[in-house]
Amino acid sequence: MTETLRPKVLVVGGGPGGYVAAIRAGQLGLDTVLVESGRLGGTCLTRGCIPSKALIHAAGLYEEAMLASAEVGRFGIHLSQAPSLRFEETIGWKDGIVDRLSGGVGGLLRKAKVKTLTGWASFSDAKTCTVETPDGLVTIRPEHVILATGSTAVELPFLPFGGKVISSTEALSLAEVPATLAVVGGGYIGLELGIAFAKLGSKVTIVEALDRILPLYDAALTAPVLRWLDKHGVTVHLGAKALGQDDEGLLIETAGGKSQLTVPADRILVTVGRKPLTEGWGLDQMALAMEGRFVKIDDRCATSTTHVWAIGDLVGEPMLAHKASAQGEMVAEVISGHRRRFDPVAIAAVCFTEPEIVSVGLTPDQAPEGVETVVGQFPFQANGRALSMQAGDDAGFVRVLARKADHRILGIQAVGRHVSEFAGEFATLMEMGAVLEDVAGTIHVHPTLGEAIHESALKALGHAIHI
Ligand code: FAD
Ligand code: NAD
Repeated sequence: MTETLRPKVLVVGGGPGGYVAAIRAGQLGLDTVLVESGRLGGTCLTRGCIPSKALIHAAGLYEEAMLASAEVGRFGIHLSQAPSLRFEETIGWKDGIVDRLSGGVGGLLRKAKVKTLTGWASFSDAKTCTVETPDGLVTIRPEHVILATGSTAVELPFLPFGGKVISSTEALSLAEVPATLAVVGGGYIGLELGIAFAKLGSKVTIVEALDRILPLYDAALTAPVLRWLDKHGVTVHLGAKALGQDDEGLLIETAGGKSQLTVPADRILVTVGRKPLTEGWGLDQMALAMEGRFVKIDDRCATSTTHVWAIGDLVGEPMLAHKASAQGEMVAEVISGHRRRFDPVAIAAVCFTEPEIVSVGLTPDQAPEGVETVVGQFPFQANGRALSMQAGDDAGFVRVLARKADHRILGIQAVGRHVSEFAGEFATLMEMGAVLEDVAGTIHVHPTLGEAIHESALKALGHAIHI
């Protein structure tokens, strides 16, 4: 028997975009149905942000223990033997975190009185959706649709996923640490996971098509990461092309095609970007305008079809969880009648490499033409807290860019251990329209890494204290 539901709002996709939209809609008293084919939490929570950060954390602890077991020890701590790694337990611990969080999302949806259906949503027109659930077919005829179907990994035609060629999803659930790992693509995922596996003992090679890693960030910010890779025996081929695989590993072309070589690889991790999930659910039946590969939206996340909204990775860059959630929250409020627009001053981005990178707003090389700017940069080497927690020796720094005329902050970045936690303060400064004097006049707690933010503003004003 087919059940028909007629909710006010149908949300398709239970990732950080969709589940946040559904919870907010429920909080606002809107009759809401959420459809998710897999696990609640989507890419981010089940095979992206959270599991990768868990693996990165475990890899860091393992590396520390390895260092403590070496002859010289670590701050006087000596382990009498090298630690052993039971990787299946590491993966089990990571899976436990995912289970907890995914279950928590289910609880939050129930609390907000959202009806959750498990199954694949398929549209025959913009307002008619069917879902094959474990309990039978459900037809949904909502007033509003929020599309939050997310994205999937880009596959290279000459290195299709399967066998030793894996995407980030498989990399986060391997049975063992590969002795040799070739990573195709030196962007976010390639570097975050490549570094984690290097710490876990893999011999890692990164193959990047462009002449630099992490092309989203400027060279000054990525230099400490490159230094770490170099010091830890990770081979990086820049301006290199993957060609295919053979029995030994990954076949690549370097030096503009002048030479070819095989990178030894038990596993080949392909991380060359992600593409919006636009196929298999009836997008073509919904008369939606597109913008390249993405669904086109306006500043309220409205698509070209009335009362159809789209959010998250489906609608474009940056493909980040916090952007998806912010859009989801806003769309639910728009549907309930609030006057909202998605118009952030800046969206912070963090790369959880070693060391970490955080960036908000403009970098010095993006300063608008004709606008005079000042830059203040403060090294963690001169920050007591950084030195006391092994965060001062990796050439990290905080850097602030401001307009010379009125000292308005245009962008702020940092590279160093633990700097991901700066993202909130950086984004707040941008949203509040802060000037250098706001940061300089804020007493930052001693001893904290955050004092480097204060000092970077003082430096831009010409009177840093500790350098
Ligand atoms: P998704 O999270 O992809 O969720 C979409 C959901 O929709 C999926 O669960 C899918 O099953 C479901 N779905 C799709 N179509 C249908 C259908 N027809 N019917 C039913 N269900 C459907 N971002 C960060 O901000 N920080 C990070 O540290 C970070 N790390 C990452 C690490 C990795 C390895 C990866 C792969 C990504 C990472 N990201 C990170 C990106 C982040 O995961 C995405 O930006 C975010 O998940 C996008 O949210 P979303 O809701 O748009 O889509
Ligand atoms: P990415 O866009 O970050 O990096 C892809 C890299 O692959 C680029 O440097 C590109 O030049 C390179 N490349 C493309 N084709 C290539 C080829 N044929 N050979 C060699 N190199 C090639 O993509 P990603 O690492 O797959 O991550 C996808 C998205 O997921 C990110 O853009 C980001 O939005 C999100 N993500 C975010 C975080 C975070 O916020 N910390 C972490 C992981 C993923």
